[in-house]
Amino acid sequence: MTRRAISAALTLAASLFGAALVAPAAHAAACGDQVIGNADFESGTAPWTGSTAAVVAGTSAEPAHGGSRLALLDGTGRTHTDTLSQSVTLPAGCSSATLTFWSHIDTQETTTSTKYDTLAVQIGSDTVASYSNLDKNTGYVQRSVDVSRYLGQTVTLTVTGKEDSSLATNFALDDFALTTGTGNPPPPPDSTRTPISPAYTVNLTSNSTGDTWTGHQSVTFTNGSATALPEVYLRLWDNWHGSCPSTPITVTNVTGGTASALSVDCTAMKVTLPSPLAQNQSATIGFDLSIAVPDGADRFGRDGAYSMIGNALPVLAIRDGSGWHLDPYTNNGESFYTVAGDFDVTLVHPTSLLTPATGTSTETTSGSTTTTRATASKVRDFAWAAGPFAKVSTTSPKGVRVNVYSVSGISSSSANSMLSLASDAVDVHAGRFGAYPYGELDAVLDNNFWFGGMEYPGFVLDLVSNVALPHEIAHQWWYGIVGDDEYNSPWLDESFADYATDLYRGVTGAGCGITWASADEKLTNSMAYWDAHSSRYSTVVYGYGKCTLHDLQRLIGDTAMANLLKTYAQSHWYGVSTTAEFKAAAQAAAGSTDLTSFWASHRVVG
Ligand SMILES: [Zn+2]
Repeated sequence: MTRRAISAALTLAASLFGAALVAPAAHAAACGDQVIGNADFESGTAPWTGSTAAVVAGTSAEPAHGGSRLALLDGTGRTHTDTLSQSVTLPAGCSSATLTFWSHIDTQETTTSTKYDTLAVQIGSDTVASYSNLDKNTGYVQRSVDVSRYLGQTVTLTVTGKEDSSLATNFALDDFALTTGTGNPPPPPDSTRTPISPAYTVNLTSNSTGDTWTGHQSVTFTNGSATALPEVYLRLWDNWHGSCPSTPITVTNVTGGTASALSVDCTAMKVTLPSPLAQNQSATIGFDLSIAVPDGADRFGRDGAYSMIGNALPVLAIRDGSGWHLDPYTNNGESFYTVAGDFDVTLVHPTSLLTPATGTSTETTSGSTTTTRATASKVRDFAWAAGPFAKVSTTSPKGVRVNVYSVSGISSSSANSMLSLASDAVDVHAGRFGAYPYGELDAVLDNNFWFGGMEYPGFVLDLVSNVALPHEIAHQWWYGIVGDDEYNSPWLDESFADYATDLYRGVTGAGCGITWASADEKLTNSMAYWDAHSSRYSTVVYGYGKCTLHDLQRLIGDTAMANLLKTYAQSHWYGVSTTAEFKAAAQAAAGSTDLTSFWASHRVVG
């Protein structure tokens, strides 16, 4: 095996006759067809593009696998990259798609552990296979990669060979094939979100300071999917605040199923049901629950005498066509993803503590003990607070009971101004997106929060802020009433809540420029991306996000935009929306204006 010299000689050979040959005419492929053009390199270079000089005639040292020609990437022994690519169209509806090729890798590298020289096979921007000097072999071996997920798409197939600064590696490639199967396609996974219609019943009693709660919780649910439901997952989100396995949320004595050990940093508990639930069958699980609120002015934390108790009640995770959603907690935003359900929560606590909560509350006092019963219908979560709050209340012109609870140190004038603002904002948002359905809205004010505010159904935590409060109240629609997967599509709630805040405040977002930090940065990226690029989260998902909606409004017109938001909210009321569904609704509202380039420039992908 020789390296550098051969490469140079064969470059010349390729240039002599490579360009004169043409690829066969393209035709629409059917299942069973091989879709790569000039896959054996016997017909010149087209339709391959890139380092076409690497398509060469074989020699005794570097022979072709079949025929007389091959692609010989690299072999220079210096820093060098060779790339070959072509566009391929995989027909839709086939049973499978498999990419195969023959590779012969020889190298001067002697390491047995370090990948100095690499070969990547990509479909679009996805790397579907990679090799290196460590995969050296004495002859050709066939590689095979399942590329079924690209069925129905036109994509770019790329092979890239990279060498570092010394010691050559030859990547000899030949006889590619990308063949689709003719059998029946596998049935698509049932994409129904399940379990559905959860009804939670909770009875908790607090200690004297309202920072420890113990009692019992149960939840009845139904399998909405045609696929059997053998288990459910409870999300114990606030265990992120502990030091797993030491946790602030303790679930014991599970009934109605068998609990597994906690997973996902103690935030998930699998409960295996006695027998799988068929579609439309219901089951109930129950457990003892204890909640220990940690120190800290947080969405789950105790600020002096005041406990904020968000995400403390275990809630059911969602399974859909892509399986169980068991994403990790994020402290940069939200991971919370649930279907709408009903809560009936009884809180027994000292009368000296007020307990603002999700839902509509009634209180019964017996001596120094008060029992607060809060009920809420069609909500995704339940949160409350406990402490000696100062409370002011009003009823909005549209009939929403609004309560503002303040920690000590917030003046009554601030509390009253936030009360007026909340009362106005809930009505104004309702005018734009649909009537607020929950009857009551509680806002808890604490200027020690490290975040601006935090949204829960019918309950928000907030600084004294004219901007944060209408934002959190807008979340009653965008996340609350119109649900979304907050971990995977955070823009669907944050961009919309910020846009709604601008509308409420009369901000038009004119001239808001977008400058993307990288090719990977997209408005529609998940929290996994933003957790790794946290300095860009607010700029993009809040700033560019609301700008995108302002720009969309400018493009399709004020009336079309207003109608879009109303009908989009209505069609997902108490449901879950996706980026694709919003894009479809926007395109319908845009009429003859094609939004394809708008989505591309604003990086709304999905
Ligand atoms: Zn928000």
